[in-house]
Amino acid sequence: MSTITQTLSRLGATEPAVGVMTGTDWRVGHGELCEVMSPIDGSHLASIATATEADVESTVAAAQEAFLIWRSVPAPQRGEFVRKIGERLRMHKSDLATLVTWEAGKITQEALGEVQEMIDICDFAVGQSRQLYGLTIASERPLHRLAEQYHPLGAIGVISAFNFPVAVWAWNAMLAFVCGDPVIWKPSEKTPLCAIGCQAIIRQVLEDSPDVPNAISSVLVGRAEVGQAIASSSGLPLVSATGSVPMGRAVGKTVAARLGRSLLELGGNNAMILAPSADLELALRGIVFAAVGTCGQRCTTLRRLIVHQEIAEACLDRLKKIYANLVIGHPEQDGVLVGPLIDGRAWEAMQSALAAAQAQGGRVTGGEKLNTGVPEGGYYVRPAIVEISADAAIVHEETFAPILYVMRYNSLAEAITIHNNVPQGLASSIFTNDVCEAEWFCSASGSDCGIVNVNIGTSGAEIGGAFGGEKETGGGRESGSDAWKNYMRRTTNTVNYSHELPLAQGIQFDV
Ligand code: NAD
Repeated sequence: MSTITQTLSRLGATEPAVGVMTGTDWRVGHGELCEVMSPIDGSHLASIATATEADVESTVAAAQEAFLIWRSVPAPQRGEFVRKIGERLRMHKSDLATLVTWEAGKITQEALGEVQEMIDICDFAVGQSRQLYGLTIASERPLHRLAEQYHPLGAIGVISAFNFPVAVWAWNAMLAFVCGDPVIWKPSEKTPLCAIGCQAIIRQVLEDSPDVPNAISSVLVGRAEVGQAIASSSGLPLVSATGSVPMGRAVGKTVAARLGRSLLELGGNNAMILAPSADLELALRGIVFAAVGTCGQRCTTLRRLIVHQEIAEACLDRLKKIYANLVIGHPEQDGVLVGPLIDGRAWEAMQSALAAAQAQGGRVTGGEKLNTGVPEGGYYVRPAIVEISADAAIVHEETFAPILYVMRYNSLAEAITIHNNVPQGLASSIFTNDVCEAEWFCSASGSDCGIVNVNIGTSGAEIGGAFGGEKETGGGRESGSDAWKNYMRRTTNTVNYSHELPLAQGIQFDV
């Protein structure tokens, strides 16, 4: 038995790969087959019969039925369901991490970290289930109470990307569950086994939770067409979509056409400003983790390093030495820090970005494909450093690969201008020991991103803070803080407990 079959079977997913899963009811989809390959060595992992539009419709109908029950279950009891999911995730942490490694190519440490994020958001959501607070507001009228309540919104669609194949679903689903909403998940077609593994966890919990409606959680395997069917379904008041900017434009347009809500978490073009006062050794560690972790395939990957002229040479010198010695290879092997790219298309995109950078005056170090000391059949690359002008067109694009563009600055005002002069606005960072610089970067006239860090890199966010970004990144916020409000509808209640009928704004209207 293969590693994947054994892992799925430990999770209880023993049936042949199915593409339509509603709670404990799993069936083969009516669509074409989705062939799943491992980025580690190109091996074939599974063939899954995908969902069709009709499968989407029946799944949405089931979720809507489940909503009618789930919305009236007290929120702390909904939290109990999520608490049980967290328990099962703890038991199966390494199994899910194995699926993440084999399908997405993450090194074991990062795969375990991603599953830990799921556990963390479960804990967070359980606490949140007792804190779905509204406000009480001072009414201008005597003997009136003005208040807000939050109610469950309805069934939610979640579309996710390959590079966070389990955590993004958990960020959305665990909050949605405690908020009273069933969830329908369309994972990336590159990582459906991770979704099957997660749904197996849900199935375990459902078997132990007779009062929870079965259609609380569904998975639909498929490509963009299934994503579009979800986006256009008026039975889903909210669609949360994570992926590239073109995907966000397409989903946002479809959801907007029916006046639904979308929550978009799209591409980044994240930068770090490295100031002369920074602790260079600390900064180098922050740069390397953020730039090469997950082989440059995180939405928060560091893509642009804006380094002060005075320290640029010293920094580049050290960075090139570190890059030359990076351990690249099988993501399950001890000591490996950089695993494979997701597939051949990612490799081609990386090569064409490096060629464009060179044509635009960039000086490239690294970026070559490795053929020895790595598994055959995968796309293993040495991360690239490109010294280039901040004005070069390629610097303004997100290429989902480990390419670090390095550019120089003289004043912090100039560095912040360079920093903000891209269409995306996800994660940002400054390394400095000057408190005035740090505060400026965090201020209204500093970084224009959703995530603004000081003396840590751009990647590796905690679940407690709201996650997301501005501009083409889509404006959505998920995970911590008050992101739960996305999954609820708000009512403003005015209650008159007098025996008069005073009108707001003092209007007189005597009949
Ligand atoms: P992608 O856009 O190719 O696919 C993402 C998901 O959208 C997949 O499930 C895909 O099937 C679906 N999809 C694609 N086109 C669609 C369409 N027209 N209509 C409906 N659904 C569609 O992205 P990817 O290659 O899987 O992931 C990489 C991208 O995701 C990068 O741009 C990265 O920055 C971004 N990302 C962003 C975040 C964030 O939180 N901001 C997190 C992870 C990844």
